[in-house]
Amino acid sequence: MKKPKRRPPPKRVKRLVLERQHDKCGCGCGRDFFVGPGTEPKFDHRPALGVRAIRDDGSDWIPAQHDPDFICALLQECHDKRTFGPSKATSRGGDVGEIARLKRILKKREERESAPRRDRRKKPKRKMASRGFSKQKRKMSSRCKSNTKPLRSRKNWFRP
Ligand SMILES: [Zn+2]
Repeated sequence: MKKPKRRPPPKRVKRLVLERQHDKCGCGCGRDFFVGPGTEPKFDHRPALGVRAIRDDGSDWIPAQHDPDFICALLQECHDKRTFGPSKATSRGGDVGEIARLKRILKKREERESAPRRDRRKKPKRKMASRGFSKQKRKMSSRCKSNTKPLRSRKNWFRP
């Protein structure tokens, strides 16, 4: 698939973003831009371009890369924290880690969906009345002893 090109946001867009944020850093630290060296704003895409969908013709992302509502102005220091995570030891919490995590999840899902059909066969229906007193043998994992719902409908479906 054709990939859109990353371009720096036009002046008009930067101005809109700064106006919206009243010339303050968008991370919530409350500090002002343009008050000294190293306080020029960095323009950051929220959500990151790497996790956005791409238009069919490959001309842009969805939402568009220069949509001011999805751009956040940050101090350099705060921008680095967002991109690489709060700690240098792990990328968790930053975009780099988030994108990697998302890719892992999508891969898992793809693997599961291409799995042999018998794995996805519907279980025979059980009578409601026998619930909890079923004589049927049921496999119980240590993780979900009291939960008889199928694993895939649960929140942690992406775990192995
Ligand atoms: Zn900040």
